[in-house]
Amino acid sequence: MDIIHLLPDSVANQIAAGEVIQRPASCLKELVENSLDAHATRIQVIVRDAGRTLLQVIDNGIGMSETDARLAFERHATSKIREAQDLFALRTMGFRGEALASICAVAQVEMTTRRAEDEVGTLIEIHGSDVVRQEVCSCPVGTNIKVSNLFYNVPVRRKFLKTDQTELRNLLTEFYHIVLVYPKVNFTFVHNDEILLELPAGGEKQRIEAVFGNPKRNVYTSSFVEVETETDLVSVHGFVIKPENATRKAEQYFFVNGRYMRHPYFLKAVQTAYSGMLSNDYQPSFFLYFEISPEAIDVNIHPTKTEIKFADEQTIFQILMAAVREALGKFSLAPTIDFDTAGAIDIPVPAPVGQVSRPQMTVDPGYNPFRQRGAVYPEKKTSGWERLYGEESHEELLRPAEIESCPLWQYNGRYILLPSEQGLLIVNQHRAHVAILYMQYLEQLSHAQGGTQQMLFPEVITLTKDEMVLMEQIAADLKGIGFDLEQLSPDSYSIQGVPAQTADRSPVPVLQHILSQVRERGAETPIEWREQIAQSLAESTAIPYGRNLTENEMRDLVTRLAALPQYKRTPEGKTIVSLMSDDELGRRF
Ligand code: ADP
Ligand code: MG
Repeated sequence: MDIIHLLPDSVANQIAAGEVIQRPASCLKELVENSLDAHATRIQVIVRDAGRTLLQVIDNGIGMSETDARLAFERHATSKIREAQDLFALRTMGFRGEALASICAVAQVEMTTRRAEDEVGTLIEIHGSDVVRQEVCSCPVGTNIKVSNLFYNVPVRRKFLKTDQTELRNLLTEFYHIVLVYPKVNFTFVHNDEILLELPAGGEKQRIEAVFGNPKRNVYTSSFVEVETETDLVSVHGFVIKPENATRKAEQYFFVNGRYMRHPYFLKAVQTAYSGMLSNDYQPSFFLYFEISPEAIDVNIHPTKTEIKFADEQTIFQILMAAVREALGKFSLAPTIDFDTAGAIDIPVPAPVGQVSRPQMTVDPGYNPFRQRGAVYPEKKTSGWERLYGEESHEELLRPAEIESCPLWQYNGRYILLPSEQGLLIVNQHRAHVAILYMQYLEQLSHAQGGTQQMLFPEVITLTKDEMVLMEQIAADLKGIGFDLEQLSPDSYSIQGVPAQTADRSPVPVLQHILSQVRERGAETPIEWREQIAQSLAESTAIPYGRNLTENEMRDLVTRLAALPQYKRTPEGKTIVSLMSDDELGRRF
């Protein structure tokens, strides 16, 4: 008996919907983008119960014919591309022809639509991909689409939704991303009969102020300076905050060709332009709009992703940093910008789009990871540290003079106990070692000087497609830390040498751990992935719990820990050292 059969469309659509429509916010995004693609100049969004009950989008765009109204809900039905080639010249927002098919698979949809040239419009009602009604109706030109009871037929998804507050915040975030690039379109956003946003058509400045201005978020465009630069490669314009107006919580928005994007590497460029101008835990707010030839970017084909790769990110980094600097300097906001030290800043190098060869690294011998890692592993006694870990005391716990001669005990194969003037110190042995090794590996990575232990019998690691891509990206750094790898086939590498410190481990899991760590943490820039490589290796090679330590080993470990710029917590924020004060001890008796 044959066992393969084609899935009914409704099931296929439901599966696809899981990808495209994860929550009300993704549904809203698709609907509003369709309205924009239909050249609407006025778009109303009406929401009930954070989109759970109702998500309605009304536009005055070009509308649809009777046939198109029906076709629009078929999978891969689109008026926007005809050939794969068109993908590269993409200027419209949607193009996969999947959104409406996905939405109607998981909701009850009612749509009325009319084109200017038609006397009457079309009403169509679809419940879970089944057309329950299609008829002629009278309605204004444009499209009015009502999505009710999202996920009514997918209880798991419905349960998966967060609180109304969170979902509403997601809806608004998605909405901001769109309205900030379409200032000429009039938008309103109504939630449970309350008008939350009313955005008249205007320029970018007015739009930013209308969205974020007091009393909502206190963003005044008068606190910003204008950025403007035009090169053959890219033009960038927008607004960056004057340093004196920066706050802890920043509004940071990049847009490219009319789309919101996340771009940690370009964020770094902006932050670098501000270096020395903001106190430690302050962040620059900015709204920066890029225009670039569509061939020079890889618009992520996946509709829910906001990451975009550029062909020449390193050059754009420089252009962007210079433009922001200039803007800040022009308004003589920067005291004096010291271009000598500016030149020494270590600029990470991203992998270009579709690159196959190994990326080249420029290495700054003065590179100090802690300098750059304010948020993750801040320097001692910064206010960033305070913000991250609350009321934690700045008291020095580990004092070298004390450690040198004090007695040490190991408890339970996990903790090192030592007396100090303040009380009893308890050190987590594994975490202490992770923190020490993390620093060592970072150091070795930034100088590409990890030692290699050649293997007698090379091992083979087999990888998935995206692991292969990741591998290419980080290959130079893996080599720098001591791996000797050679690509064997399109999906495998042979491991011929490993970092000396990992020589006693099985190399495949060590490498596998690095890849999954880099991927899970979404590390995208060399700085970020080096941190993850260091973190992963540190975890793989640190002394495990249960290992008995001699007194010398304990003293050595604690001494090395005390020498770190930050020893109370691991780079991930886990406690390494805890103090049981004499008072606390006393109270127990
Ligand atoms: P895509 O936007 O990727 O083409 P969708 O499923 O979002 O796919 O929409 C399918 C088609 O329906 C669009 O290509 C467009 O022709 C039509 N359409 C959808 N929404 C609207 C709208 N608000 N106004 C006019 N046409 C629309
Ligand atoms: Mg669309």
